[in-house]
Amino acid sequence: MYLTDLEDAGRGMHSLAAELYPLCRSITGAGARSTLQRLSEDIPLEIHEVRSGTQVFDWIIPQEWNIREAWIKDPKGHTVVNFTNHNLHIVGYSMPVRCIIPLAELKTRLFSLPEQPDLIPYRTSYYNKTWGFCLPHRDLERLEEGEYEVCIDATHSDGSLTYGECYIPGTTDDEVLISCHICHPSLANDNLAGIAVGVALARQLACRARRLTYRFLFIPGAIGSITWLALHPTVIARIKHGLVLTCAGDAGPVTYKKSRIGNAFIDRAMGHVLKTCGAEYRIEEFEPYGYDERQYCSPGINLPVGCLMRSPHGTFPEYHTSADNLEFIKPHCLADTLSKALAAFDILEHNTKYVNIKPMCEPKLGNYGLYGGGGGQRNCHFDELALLWVLNLSDGGNDLLAIAERSGMPFCKIQCAAAALDQAGLLRREPS
Ligand code: ZN
Repeated sequence: MYLTDLEDAGRGMHSLAAELYPLCRSITGAGARSTLQRLSEDIPLEIHEVRSGTQVFDWIIPQEWNIREAWIKDPKGHTVVNFTNHNLHIVGYSMPVRCIIPLAELKTRLFSLPEQPDLIPYRTSYYNKTWGFCLPHRDLERLEEGEYEVCIDATHSDGSLTYGECYIPGTTDDEVLISCHICHPSLANDNLAGIAVGVALARQLACRARRLTYRFLFIPGAIGSITWLALHPTVIARIKHGLVLTCAGDAGPVTYKKSRIGNAFIDRAMGHVLKTCGAEYRIEEFEPYGYDERQYCSPGINLPVGCLMRSPHGTFPEYHTSADNLEFIKPHCLADTLSKALAAFDILEHNTKYVNIKPMCEPKLGNYGLYGGGGGQRNCHFDELALLWVLNLSDGGNDLLAIAERSGMPFCKIQCAAAALDQAGLLRREPS
């Protein structure tokens, strides 16, 4: 992508996040549904509903949760907490309640962050039936003794779990799975940034030539990937590479967490992109914690799915608080995450293996119009050192990514050099 296109994409992703920010998402319900509805305006998205009560492996799809209002009034009748001001004020999946209780009892239902007294924490209780509110610690400390009126107008009813799937076919059935969670309410880096990068990726890939087929899942965390995996046993075998996208928009360096396999092709491709990008990066080993890679990399599934993010969950002070807002994610950071994912997908698309057909000493490059560098006769500008690396390592044992890894040169340079050598008749392409 050109720089200006990337800048446009960054702004586009940020404004999509801004549109989705006010929706009260959860693992089921109207917020998740309207989020997917909005995404379907930008990409071809099939929205699926899976009925509450459906058994998915060891789990059961819960009842659908919908909330209309939630507030607390102090002894003088002033509203001191109101869900309409911020989605994070309510503990996600709270049971309905209407009662008058003394402050001491109310306090057992209130969650705050004494260390970050101005922020609202994010809390949920999906599988344990309870209710509660979240508020800044400063506000909690100001509450006076007395009787408080509490209202949560919410329903838990048989309905469904909603997820979205965007399928972009390539010329082969080999699939790349891209998965984003959509279950967090007003949190920008932790869910909206991944969603926005996912949508931008789908739009980019849709207008490129593709060998691989891309399947994007926009799903509630954990229960969504468990559901999808349980319902698609035959698709699983076609998935050759995958990425979970999350925390994709903050200013921290890009972080890649490897798949459980550890040296899967996606692990190598993402690792190579980061090592040659010229910017700070982090590569982490797999651990069975984090986002939906936990499910994709469970032992019975064991897909080559890594996790692409910037600052990992739990490592930044804004994590799971009201400070994970639209200011916390930056258009240029979203664009940077997008470009790194696209660079890795370029490797997935274009990796191949060649054999040098003149391996007895170096061929005289001048005889093939390849000496003096530049490759000005083509769109592709090859590098002389890249030509030498490709010639030297194309012995039948190394694919282009292996050559890029060993030379430390970006894959695209190695790919260009190989294309020039191929055209000059110095390489033979190995059947893949
Ligand atoms: Zn989260």
